[in-house]
Amino acid sequence: SLIITDECINCDVCEPECPNHAISQGAEIYEINPDLCTECVGHFDEPQCQQVCPVDCIPHDPNNVESKEQLHAKYVKISAAA
Ligand code: SF4
Ligand code: SF4
Repeated sequence: SLIITDECINCDVCEPECPNHAISQGAEIYEINPDLCTECVGHFDEPQCQQVCPVDCIPHDPNNVESKEQLHAKYVKISAAA
């Protein structure tokens, strides 16, 4: 999963770009639900939120490192539930 850091300026540009609806407005800044973020695997070649964030505050979450296979499995699971 990716994670939004406290450098987020609450611009709301990333939220509508997420194909998995993993991004929402939290108490202080925007947040990514790690259960829904596939790092855009299954939808796009590059993480869409990273592409649009004007302050570059959406790195990989070091506490939530996943392989392409794990991310793809998550994509399949989310798609089946949708
Ligand atoms: Fe959504 Fe993709 Fe960003 Fe994850 S990397 S939060 S799936 S836009
Ligand atoms: Fe925050 Fe970046 Fe999303 Fe804007 S695009 S809300 S700065 S994470």
